[in-house]
Amino acid sequence: MNTPKVIDLVVNNDLCIGCGLCVYACPSQALDMKWNDYGFLVPELTGTCELDGACLDVCPFNPIPLKEVETEFELADLFLNDTQKKHPKIGKYSAIYAGYADEFRLSSSSGGMGTYIFTELLVNGIVDYVFSVKESEKAGVHYEYSISRSKEELLKASKTRYFPVTLDRVLSEIQSLDGKVAIVGVACFIKAIRLAQYREPQLKDKIPFLVGIICGGVKSRFFTEYLSSKVDVEKQNIEHPNFRIKDYESTASDYSYGCKDKATDEEKTIKMRSVGDMWGTGLFKANACDFCDDVTTELADISLGDAWLHPYVRDGKGTNVVVTRSEIADELIQNGIKKGDLTLENLSLEAFLASQQGSFNHRHTGLSVRIKEAKKRNQPVPPKRFGNEKVTMYFKIVQKLRMKVRRKSLVVWKKNSNAKPFDSEMKSFLNPLKVITKVNHLRRRLGRLVMKLKGNKG
Ligand SMILES: Cc1cc2nc3c(=O)[nH]c(=O)nc-3n(C[C@H](O)[C@H](O)[C@H](O)COP(=O)(O)OP(=O)(O)OC[C@H]3O[C@@H](n4cnc5c(N)ncnc54)[C@H](O)[C@@H]3O)c2cc1C
Repeated sequence: MNTPKVIDLVVNNDLCIGCGLCVYACPSQALDMKWNDYGFLVPELTGTCELDGACLDVCPFNPIPLKEVETEFELADLFLNDTQKKHPKIGKYSAIYAGYADEFRLSSSSGGMGTYIFTELLVNGIVDYVFSVKESEKAGVHYEYSISRSKEELLKASKTRYFPVTLDRVLSEIQSLDGKVAIVGVACFIKAIRLAQYREPQLKDKIPFLVGIICGGVKSRFFTEYLSSKVDVEKQNIEHPNFRIKDYESTASDYSYGCKDKATDEEKTIKMRSVGDMWGTGLFKANACDFCDDVTTELADISLGDAWLHPYVRDGKGTNVVVTRSEIADELIQNGIKKGDLTLENLSLEAFLASQQGSFNHRHTGLSVRIKEAKKRNQPVPPKRFGNEKVTMYFKIVQKLRMKVRRKSLVVWKKNSNAKPFDSEMKSFLNPLKVITKVNHLRRRLGRLVMKLKGNKG
């Protein structure tokens, strides 16, 4: 039996992110998305593979891409060719802002810009349909991509869902729609759509607008199960998981997780700060994310993230960072400001870079450590734009421990999906990471102080 290239080179090397574009691209319809043992959606062979390689052409983690679309830089030159400004860390851009959409702020995860942009795209007739992430009616599948045609439907698709979703059916579905479509996605999903548009240029016209969600890592469904277990909800009883419940009286980062317990009909919540660091540690994260160097969703028309930055972070109602990268995106923002719909101010490039500093450290600077480790194990790595920086010993240890924590969290949860034994077993991996991270930060601060003192002397 033929093994599809995407399974051979990507899935079997744990580089799959579950975007599902290979399912769409396969001319023999030989692939289907299935849940794997670690709570991620991945393609599986369910038909006869003709080995034509289309699956690999649209894969954002393809280790052997065509030179013309090798990295985000080549793709940006093809798809954002009118955009003038460029920065090696954030790609092509027109303008950078921080702020919120007054109407949608409170019902959204950050400043409501995602829901605002989609509404404006529909109202202004730029697209006829929006594909975003809504609650699913399928048992156990909490969220999935689905279509919206109105503001009411879009409101149901607001909020950040840290849950695996896939585009496997979306691109086939839009072929049967009369009109244009906008899609939202994290960086690798947007890259997969651009690769599909490169392969099938008519898709560029069909999908004239992409909203990019700045992403710190895609989580396994185990993440939802773990948080629910922290509030004593068993995985078969989780309903309506809500990952970003704001506390208007507190800071933006002081949000809670919540869900309904089907067994008791109770709503249960937990402050995320009481759970510990779920992002910097790499807990429940996909391995592919450790080989992604697109921190700010460089290939979208507009990129949206959280303004983890003073003074915005002090406001529990939530604030977005916004990067426009195309003419339509700029116009929507400028009109929104003029109409009084948006409270946005220009953000300097330096401030924006600072808002994503942790992600740059991990995904640009730390990449060299992970590439070396992968090469030692003879694992293929997709071509990367970063990964040549020299790093200190402590920084290297932090990266290696994060890799271990990520891997172990999935193995340990698979073995026993209960938060108490999980926390106790993970301590022996998380504690050393905590200590070395502190030492690394201290060393970095000392280094900066020494440089400053030397500068003063000079
Ligand atoms: C997995 C993930 C990781 C993230 N990590 C970071 C980070 O490290 N740093 C940062 O600055 N921001 C991050 N964000 C983005 C942030 O949480 C907000 O989604 C973003 O600021 C938009 O907020 P909003 O209020 O404008 O969106 P809203 O108005 O609430 O709209 C959110 C939009 O995102 C869509 N959406 C929700 N979940 C998903 C999903 N899983 N995949 C694709 N689309 C989805 C919704 O359907 C909706 O259209 C992350 C988001 C996700 C999904």
